[in-house]
Amino acid sequence: MYKHIGKKLKVLAEVWCVLGVLGSIAAGVLLYFVKKPPMDLLYCILIAVGGVILSILSSWGIYALSEIHVKLEKLEDKLIPKPNYMSYLEDKQAMRGQCEICGKTTDLISAKIVDSLGTRYRKVCKECFAANGCEEK
Ligand SMILES: [Zn+2]
Repeated sequence: MYKHIGKKLKVLAEVWCVLGVLGSIAAGVLLYFVKKPPMDLLYCILIAVGGVILSILSSWGIYALSEIHVKLEKLEDKLIPKPNYMSYLEDKQAMRGQCEICGKTTDLISAKIVDSLGTRYRKVCKECFAANGCEEK
């Protein structure tokens, strides 16, 4: 629910902005044309224009926050090694051999690969493990 919250916040910022702009204009129009007796025209214009400006400015705040989160997540992905790979190295003795994907001779991980071709089990190097979105077997 809260995973990748930055992307969700971006959508929220856009929805917030659109609803706020439309709602403010609708409120101004309704208060002048529908309400009996009508509210003073100047107040209606102030409500509509003020609401539009407030909606846009507040959506910038939400959007900026989401942008920071998205960039922080990307940075985190680059700087911090994948936790399942790290725990694998701590728990088990590394096994040497030839990667079944790229053929490189190095430390291998028993990996479960699930993709459009189905589920396969392979012994792969850490680069192939990360590149193919594998799970530990
Ligand atoms: Zn490999």
